[in-house]
Amino acid sequence: MSAAPAMPRTIAPHEVTMPPRSLERFRAVLAPDRMAALERASDEARRLLAGRVVWNVNSTAKGGGVVELLRPLVGYARGAGVDTRWVVIDGPPEFFAVTKRIHNRLHGTLGDGGALDADARHVYESVLAANLEAFPGEVRPGDVVILHDPQPAGLTAAMKAAGAAVIWRCHVGVDDPDDLVRATWEFLRPYVAPADRYVFSREAFAWDGLDRRRVVVIPPSIDAFSPKNVDLDDDTVARTLAIAGLVAGVAEPGSVTFERADGTPGRVERRARLVEDAPLPPDAAAVVQVSRWDALKDPIGVVRGFAEHVPADTSAHLVYVGPDVEAVADDPEGLQILREAMAVRQALPAEVRARIHLASLPMDDLDENAVMVNAMQRHARVIAQKSLAEGFGLTVAEAMWKGRPVIASRVGGIQEQIVDGVSGVLLDDPRDLAAFGAATTALLDDAPRAERIGRNARERVRDRFLNARTLLDYYDVIRRALGDRERVVAPQGP
Ligand code: UDP
Repeated sequence: MSAAPAMPRTIAPHEVTMPPRSLERFRAVLAPDRMAALERASDEARRLLAGRVVWNVNSTAKGGGVVELLRPLVGYARGAGVDTRWVVIDGPPEFFAVTKRIHNRLHGTLGDGGALDADARHVYESVLAANLEAFPGEVRPGDVVILHDPQPAGLTAAMKAAGAAVIWRCHVGVDDPDDLVRATWEFLRPYVAPADRYVFSREAFAWDGLDRRRVVVIPPSIDAFSPKNVDLDDDTVARTLAIAGLVAGVAEPGSVTFERADGTPGRVERRARLVEDAPLPPDAAAVVQVSRWDALKDPIGVVRGFAEHVPADTSAHLVYVGPDVEAVADDPEGLQILREAMAVRQALPAEVRARIHLASLPMDDLDENAVMVNAMQRHARVIAQKSLAEGFGLTVAEAMWKGRPVIASRVGGIQEQIVDGVSGVLLDDPRDLAAFGAATTALLDDAPRAERIGRNARERVRDRFLNARTLLDYYDVIRRALGDRERVVAPQGP
C-alpha cells in the first residue's frame, strides 16, 4: 500500500441524521433551578444561533466514546431548536492508519510504529482536502464548526476561511505527557492553532504552545436516559441479570425489553460468557468492576486484591465485567489479559476462587450490552475502578449516577468525579492491593456509610456530569467563540 496515494478513492463524507430530543426529559432528574438555567440558556442559544448552523465533524458514526457523547448532545441541541448537524468524514485505510498513529501517540504509545513525517502529513492533508470538496452542506459565515479529535482537525483553517467560528474539541489526553506525546502535539499544532477555542476534558490535558486564553475545559458527561444509565427497577435488574446468566436464582425471568438510544425497542436475550465455579448467588454482596480487559484497568490487581485482602467472612463476591473479547477478533491484547486473569483466578484456593467471577458481556447488540452493564452496576454493593491510568473514567460517573459507592484510583479524571470520603473513596496508590482490600471491606461492613456515599455520588453527577451540564458548557464556548470572531470581523465591515 502506498503511503501517499496520488488520488484516494472517492471520498464521501456523510451527514448523520439525529432526531431532536426534548430537553423536557431533564425535568425529571434536574433540580428546579438547574432546569430553569438549562431552559434559559437554551432560549439564549436559540436566539444567538438563529440562522446559523452548528456543525459537528468527527470520523465515525458508530462506536467509541466520542459517538456516545455526540449522539445525545446533537439530539438535545436540535431539540432546543438549534440547527445542529453532524458530519462524518471519510478516508482510505492509509488515512486512518495515520490518524490511529496520532491517537496512539497522544496516549504515549507507538501504535504501528510508523512515522509522523512528510508522507503522513501528505496523506492527512490530501484526504481532508477531498473531504472538504465533498462536504455535505455549505458552511457559511457566522456558522459554528466543532471539530472532534485529531481526525478532522486539519479542516480548521478552511472552516475559518469560510467565515465560521471554529472550536477544536480534543477528547484524549494524558496526565504526564512524554516526548512522544509532545512530538505529536507538534505535528498537530499547526492544524488546530487557528481555532477560536480549544476544548479539553481536563485542565491537565491542555497542550503547551496553544493560546491559554482560548483553552476551555469541558469534562465528559453521561446520558441519564440511555440504556446504560436509565433507571431500572429491582425486578428488571434481577431479570436482566438472570437472562444474561450473571446471577443465579430467577427461575422464570420472562423477557426484558428496553428503549434503544434511537427510540426503537430492544430485548435482552443473549448470555454472558462466565468464568466461575457457580453463578453469583442473588443475595451475595457483589463488588463489581466494569472495564475493558486492559492492563491499565488492572483486572489482575482487582482479582488479587480481592482474593488476598477482602476477608471470607464478608461473604462478598467479586465480579469483573468486561466486553466479550473472544468474539472480537481484533482485540488480541484483551484476550491475552482475560487469559491472565483466568490463570490468576484458577491458581487461588478453592474457597476464594468460588467467590470470583469473570464475566464477558456479549457485544453483538451494544444497547443490550449497555442494559446488562446498567443492571450489573445497580446490583453491585460496591463498585471498584482500580485503574492504573484513566482519561476520565466514564464507568465511575455511570456507577455514581446509580447511587453506588465507588472505590477508585486517584488517577486522571477520576479525581474530578470523586470527592474522597464524600462521594466515593479514592486510593492514593492504585498498586496497593492491601489498601484496596481494606477500603472495600470497610465499605462492605458499613452499610449506612456506603449508602451516604452513594447518595452524594448521585448528587455530584446530577450537578456536574450529565449531558445537561455539557450542553450549557458548549453554549458558553460557542458564545465566546462567536463573540471573538465578530469582534475581529466587525472593524473590517463597511
Ligand atoms: N463498557 C461496556 N461494556 C463492557 C465494558 C465497558 O459498555 O463490557 C463501557 C462502560 O460502561 C463505559 C465505557 O465502556 O461506558 C468505558 O469508558 P471509560 O471512560 O470508563 O474507559 P475506556 O474504556 O474509554 O478507557
